[in-house]
Amino acid sequence: MNSRLEQSVVLKVVPEKRTHAYLILDRTIFHPKGGGQPSDRGLIRSAEYEIVVKKAIYHNGIIIHWGKLSRGTPMEGEATCEIDWAYRYLIMRRHTSAHLLDHCLAEVTSRRIQTTDSWLDEPCYVGYAGARPDTPTLRKVEGLANKMIGAGGQVKIEFLNLEEAKALLQNAPNYERLPDLPEIRTVTIEDCSPIPCGGTHVSDLTEIGKVSIERAEQMPNESFRLHFSVGASASST
Ligand SMILES: [Zn+2]
Repeated sequence: MNSRLEQSVVLKVVPEKRTHAYLILDRTIFHPKGGGQPSDRGLIRSAEYEIVVKKAIYHNGIIIHWGKLSRGTPMEGEATCEIDWAYRYLIMRRHTSAHLLDHCLAEVTSRRIQTTDSWLDEPCYVGYAGARPDTPTLRKVEGLANKMIGAGGQVKIEFLNLEEAKALLQNAPNYERLPDLPEIRTVTIEDCSPIPCGGTHVSDLTEIGKVSIERAEQMPNESFRLHFSVGASASST
């Protein structure tokens, strides 16, 4: 499981209006916004100051932290980073659920599915190409997902080179959006096909607890969004 606290070195501080600041660290536990996953939030602090981190932004290969000063003045040097673990864990559970819903939708409809976008904060949804499925189909998708959560299954992270990725991931729901990187990070839920993804996930399906499909929203451009939520998890602390 990911750590919630980390010692880092603040390499650069750019103040904003005396109340906020941008910080660059030598390393970070803050996951930036990207691929439908919202940014981590939390604290960066030392004996002299504390910043409430609102956003971590990936820009030109660097993660920039932006937040509000709650004490003192930020400066370069050693600092403690703390992410809001309850929020991160919720996002991990939602993110893994989104991949599971991809799999279950493909299984229930017996066709290759294509994701268009997703957002894992509020509102929480995954977007798919095509017409909105009917309610009985959605209930089957939800039922299969919860059956798999109940049975449990490992969630593995692996890295493939671009050629391997292009060969192995052709049925992935986001294949059309495969990044042009030398190394592709994949997430594989046990008994499911690998999916290229750079986000954070739980390590076993049982951690999700339960997934509920709230509604399917037909979008104007021949696509639809599955809005979903995750229920209580026994290991959320
Ligand atoms: Zn993912």
